[in-house]
Amino acid sequence: MSDSCIFCKIARGEIPSYKVYEDDVVLAFLDVNPSSRGHTLVVPKEHFDDMTKCPKDILDYCFEVAQLIAQAQIKELGATGANVLTNIGKSAGQSVRHFHIHVIPRYDNDGLKLAFPPKQLEDKEMLLIQDSISKGL
Ligand code: AMP
Repeated sequence: MSDSCIFCKIARGEIPSYKVYEDDVVLAFLDVNPSSRGHTLVVPKEHFDDMTKCPKDILDYCFEVAQLIAQAQIKELGATGANVLTNIGKSAGQSVRHFHIHVIPRYDNDGLKLAFPPKQLEDKEMLLIQDSISKGL
């Protein structure tokens, strides 16, 4: 737990939130600035800066809960899909430095754009990248 971390404070019940699920390990609550109706954050109660720092058992469990949330959004809110994502680091848009998974329900023609503009790289560069990532595993 971190004294200044806003999600730690929510986990400790020091700041109110619209909780939708809670157990000893995980908390899920509505995003205060939702990108769509039902946008939910799944966070481990223990503080980890981001996904890369989270132990595997807790990470797996967080994604299990994210699956349940997406299923509930589809069943109860009439969502027709969901985007499930986590930002790692400032460059990726992470604004709260406490690992969390966004579960963003999607509705037909909701107009929300999560942009991943396509790029093309030369084969040589693709092979270099392939090698680097494989080496790092
Ligand atoms: P990220 O940019 O991936 O770090 O996402 C952080 C998210 O936390 C943003 O979508 C914020 O709207 C949301 N957020 C920040 N403070 C709160 C809060 N007190 N309660 C609920 N959601 C929050």
